[in-house]
Amino acid sequence: MKIVFATKNKGKVNEVVKIFNTDKIELVTMEQAGIDIDVVEDGTTFEENAEKKAVEIMKASGEAAIADDSGLEIDFLDKQPGIHSARFLGHDTLYSIKNAKILDMLKDVPEEKRTARFVCAVCLALPDGRIIRSKGTLEGRIGNKITGENGFGYDPIFFIPEKNCYSAELSTEEKNKISHRGKAMAEMREKILEIL
Ligand code: IMP
Repeated sequence: MKIVFATKNKGKVNEVVKIFNTDKIELVTMEQAGIDIDVVEDGTTFEENAEKKAVEIMKASGEAAIADDSGLEIDFLDKQPGIHSARFLGHDTLYSIKNAKILDMLKDVPEEKRTARFVCAVCLALPDGRIIRSKGTLEGRIGNKITGENGFGYDPIFFIPEKNCYSAELSTEEKNKISHRGKAMAEMREKILEIL
C-alpha cells in the first residue's frame, strides 16, 4: 500500500519513515508524490488539523495520505504553544531563539510547575473516504538549559524524566520508542496492517 506522508518537515520524515518501513507499506514524501501544496492549519485541535491535512493531500494525490499534527503543551503557559507550536514567536524564527524565550518565560518557575507534554494526533485518509485516527503523548518538563544536538524543534528544552535526559540527546531510534509521534504512528501502523 502506498501512502503519501503529508508533511514538509524533514525531521518528521526521518522519524516516521523508520517506523513505517514494512514490505506492505510504502511511505512516500509529498515531494516524491509530486505534490507541493500548503494546507492551512486552521483547526482548533490537533485532531482537526491532522484530518484536514490528510484529506487534502489524499484528494490532491489520489492516494492514501497520512498526516500528523503535533505540538508542545506547557502547563505553566496554559498549554501554549499547543496547536500553535510551529508558528509560536514566528514561523521562521530559529528554534534556538524560541527555546531561549521559553526558558526565559519560565525563569524562576520551580521544577514541579514546569510540566509539559508533546502531543501528536495522526490521521489516515483513504481514497474511499475512510478516516483512521491515532494519538500519542510524551510527558516531561521544560528543562533549565538548551541541551542536545538531535531531533528538532523544542527537543533541546524538553527533559524526559523516564530517560533522565533531554529529548535532543536521544537517537532517532530511542526517541521513536517513547515519543508522542512514535506511539501514535506505531498505533496507526498496526491499524493499517489490520485493514490490509
Ligand atoms: P506541525 O508540523 O503543525 O505538527 O507542528 C509541529 C510543531 O510542534 C513543530 O514545528 C515543533 O515546533 C513542535 N514539535 C512537534 N513534535 C516535536 C518533537 O518531536 N520535537 C520537538 N518539537 C516538536
